[in-house]
Amino acid sequence: MKYKLISLLISIMLLSVSINILNQNLTVNGKSTNFNTSTISENMNPDVVDMIQSINHTLVYDYHQALMSFGPRYTGSKNCSDAGNYLYDSFQSIGLNTEKTIWNFKGFSSYNIEATIEGTHPNKAIFIMSAHYDCTKGSLGADDDGSGVAALLAIANVMSKYSFNNTIKFVAFSGEEVGTYGSFSYARDAYRNEENIHAVLNVDMIGYANSNEGGKKIRFHSPKRSEWIVEQATQISYLYEPLLDITVQGRPNYIGADHQAFVDYGYDGVWIAHHDGYPWANTPEDNPEHLNWSYQLKATKVLCAILAEMSLKPISLQIQLLKPYEGYGYFGKKPLLLLDLGSLWSKEKRGITMVLGTTNAEARVISDEEITYVVFCINNNFMNFDSTPPYTWDIQGKHAPPIGSYTLRAYVYSENGQVASDEMDIWSFSLNYYYSPW
Ligand SMILES: [Zn+2]
Repeated sequence: MKYKLISLLISIMLLSVSINILNQNLTVNGKSTNFNTSTISENMNPDVVDMIQSINHTLVYDYHQALMSFGPRYTGSKNCSDAGNYLYDSFQSIGLNTEKTIWNFKGFSSYNIEATIEGTHPNKAIFIMSAHYDCTKGSLGADDDGSGVAALLAIANVMSKYSFNNTIKFVAFSGEEVGTYGSFSYARDAYRNEENIHAVLNVDMIGYANSNEGGKKIRFHSPKRSEWIVEQATQISYLYEPLLDITVQGRPNYIGADHQAFVDYGYDGVWIAHHDGYPWANTPEDNPEHLNWSYQLKATKVLCAILAEMSLKPISLQIQLLKPYEGYGYFGKKPLLLLDLGSLWSKEKRGITMVLGTTNAEARVISDEEITYVVFCINNNFMNFDSTPPYTWDIQGKHAPPIGSYTLRAYVYSENGQVASDEMDIWSFSLNYYYSPW
């Protein structure tokens, strides 16, 4: 009976979703795109289906057009700060808690704009969706990255009407084209405030396709440590493929985009872009005429589905390496030197930790499950474990080189068999290294 009731309830839910969908005629470039009700599967979340139905051409196009009206938005220029104010006002008018934060780096001064949907779960983590609103000198940045900013606003607009277990932050950076300085400032400060950022989905160039295959794919460029984001996003894209006709394609990382500052500070992040090459990037020809609007709309919808599905699910087990701090120079256990190496983005040295002598590690676990223990590893070799918080370990052992770099990794195991991990790179110089029995 209970089973029958549940099936009845599911049928009613699906029926109401179907009716809802039948009632909506989406118009893309004048063409009607009615979703066929038979394409809705029971594994799709009805709220997420509603969200992606609510994203339409007009919503995305109007945001994009408004951004284009400011002209070229080189970091530090009046156009750029006017565009930043427009983004601040837009997020506010959506009804989101909005912040405008100034950053200064290497002679540039500009603003990051962020809007937040606060998560409802006690163990919430932060999901960031980002794009950059600056462009190179003389370029309108229609695709790079007006396309990402328009998607960000449209997705924020639609998702603001729902609640999620995890916190969602929509962040528009400036300073990308001059050295990813806006995202560097943001990631560095977030790290120093111990913010629990779980994943960064950085959307940069999603407005173009000129091939059949390119029209059905969206690329996720990921470092090794963040491949779980690509795996989850791929699964979600295949779940909603019958509605959207676009799926995620995993690709190797590219360090010159705004997700990388987060990766350098020990968070996970990916760069998201269209599949086909765009010949007009960073030129005065990067204008709205070259955009493919039906692709931009599909890309915006699938990214909304991915962000919504990820933020809806509570994260049952999380671990963060709190010590040593990223981006500090240590003398033994003391973090005495604050390293601000934002200009070394191309060398992946932002957030590097240097240790003279030996120091200690500490991991923070966030979970409502019983924890078995936290295991500390050097270069993926098991070194030690701690079964009571605070989870700490004096870093030592033959697997850490006296001079050179190594990866410190912490795993947490829960009693019901779940596992999570975090890692960081350390550059060490130690004359009095002693070896543990491990
Ligand atoms: Zn870009």
